[in-house]
Amino acid sequence: MSLRSRVLRTLAVATTAAAVLAPVPASAMAAPAAAGAVETRHVSGGHAVTAGATITTATGASYAFSAVVGGKPVRWNPCAAIHWRANVMRAPLGGLGALKSAVASVAAATGTTWVFDGTTTAAPSSSWLPTTSTQKPVLIGWTDGTSSDLLRGKPSSVLGMTRTTWFGRSTATGTVAATRGAVVALDRTDRLPLRGGNSWTAVALHELGHAAGLAHPHDSGELMNAVLPASLTGLQAGDRSGLYRLGRSQGCISF
Ligand SMILES: [Zn+2]
Repeated sequence: MSLRSRVLRTLAVATTAAAVLAPVPASAMAAPAAAGAVETRHVSGGHAVTAGATITTATGASYAFSAVVGGKPVRWNPCAAIHWRANVMRAPLGGLGALKSAVASVAAATGTTWVFDGTTTAAPSSSWLPTTSTQKPVLIGWTDGTSSDLLRGKPSSVLGMTRTTWFGRSTATGTVAATRGAVVALDRTDRLPLRGGNSWTAVALHELGHAAGLAHPHDSGELMNAVLPASLTGLQAGDRSGLYRLGRSQGCISF
């Protein structure tokens, strides 16, 4: 059997993006930034691709998935190492440590292994994202609207942006989807502490939550809320529940 016949069709790349907004009055809050911006073109086999609705756990915590295919959230293959690189050319002093801390939290919450491949001078922009379904390292780093399309034209309240790329493949037994790339742009023009509330660690954690497959829940008590909750320094119960369901607990993905 040829590869062509076993793999019936490769679906189009879809991307999602979302922003962290600095705390602003509720009246000025925008709708969750692009949480539902999932392209659905070339989806075959009747498998709906939708942005996940907010899911509330029995204990009242909540989370949302960025994309759902065939009833399952789109995620990385948790059985393969997720490599990542950092661009810290324009980072605050100690910035790399903040990134490593955030990555460690997401790795623990998902049960996945993240491998640091070192620093890079590549700009955290959408050109980093893979154009083929071969998995590529996640890039996270500080940049600005001049150097990265992710931050271009964004209001000053935006602290970071994430864009992910996933591929779907229709097989005889259903659609298989897997995230294959992500890029996180942190706005270097913002002045934040490294740790604590409203810190680079918190922003990086929120953005890596997007990279892992979470969207914004309608719950200001979660770190994944569209407006970064100032009092939160780390992942909350809903954030952890969502990440758990995007990780190793759900088994491997054969793509
Ligand atoms: Zn966000």
